Amino acid sequence: MTGPRDLLGRRLRDVRVSVTDRCNFRCPYCMPREVFGEAHRFLPKSEILSFEEIARVVAVMCDLGVRKVRLTGGEPLLRRELRQLVRRLAGIAALEDLAMTTNGLLLAASAQALKDAGLHRVTVSLDALDDPLFRRLSGTDRPVDHVLEGIGAACCAGLPVKINCVIQRGVNEDQILPLAEWCREEGHTLRFIEYMDVGNHNRWHTASVVPAAEIRARLEDVYPLEAVDAAVRGEVARRYRYPDGAGEVGFVTSISEPFCRDCHRARLTADGKLVTCLFAENGADVRAFLRSGGSDDELRNFVAKVWSRRDDRYSELRAATQPRRKIEMSYVGG
Ligand code: SAM
Repeated sequence: MTGPRDLLGRRLRDVRVSVTDRCNFRCPYCMPREVFGEAHRFLPKSEILSFEEIARVVAVMCDLGVRKVRLTGGEPLLRRELRQLVRRLAGIAALEDLAMTTNGLLLAASAQALKDAGLHRVTVSLDALDDPLFRRLSGTDRPVDHVLEGIGAACCAGLPVKINCVIQRGVNEDQILPLAEWCREEGHTLRFIEYMDVGNHNRWHTASVVPAAEIRARLEDVYPLEAVDAAVRGEVARRYRYPDGAGEVGFVTSISEPFCRDCHRARLTADGKLVTCLFAENGADVRAFLRSGGSDDELRNFVAKVWSRRDDRYSELRAATQPRRKIEMSYVGG
């Protein structure tokens, strides 16, 4: 079956599934403690999609052309028995790529079970190797070694690991080279993501963005890089390889070179909203649809209709867009 195209001709190819809005980090740029502290009301269990509901939506999306699913959050490893969801999703024949993005803190204890359940690979977010800076950026007193142990456990379990790093001007620029060196030694692909104006609380400003070209230039002062062709159309990272064979590094240029016209991604929030842009104000209520007893055919039509009405390209229009309330990062999962 050929899936729907949206108003800009984009097809639905991949989906990020937020499995919880909770996180064990309080990153000042993502979930600042002033907003997500003791008084914050996280979603009650009844409002969160069950594994059965998530698997049903993903299966229907696969009928519409989705081939890649990434589990995220909040922190996905805070969702109990996550491996049961992985097992369900791994059983969907059309799905070619099943990945997870995590802060890595709980990965050491769960990597093998997730691999055994059918997870294909994992991306770990790591913005600093320097321990005091790591603790400040994650808003926790947990040492960076816990994340490194999680990464080691994922490798031992046979899960390929990528590292995501967000660099902010004047905050962790000095981590660019240490992270690149560490990833080269450990054999992990490192991806630098430009700092974005996601959610409503990260006090983002263009001055806090370090453009990917600048990060690349700093790396190239030390390590030559060669461009690598995209493996698939719509791949979000611009890929480079080290000519000495020490692996790859990628750059996600969402601010300096937006790629909205190549965005084939939908997002399913923990409370069941189908969102077509990371910077959206709202999403379509899939949960209400699921719980009102619709059939799979009706669900397929519902999702196809949401996608075919899509015309968002926030990153391209950012400079001309008035400030407005966006869905929180902990709901849409990055
Ligand atoms: N808790 C998980 C984690 O830490 O990977 C999953 C959720 S987290 C929101 C997903 C990704 O979004 C992480 O790689 C994080 O670094 C990235 N992220 C968060 N805020 C960002 C921002 N303002 N700009 C760019 N990336 C951001």
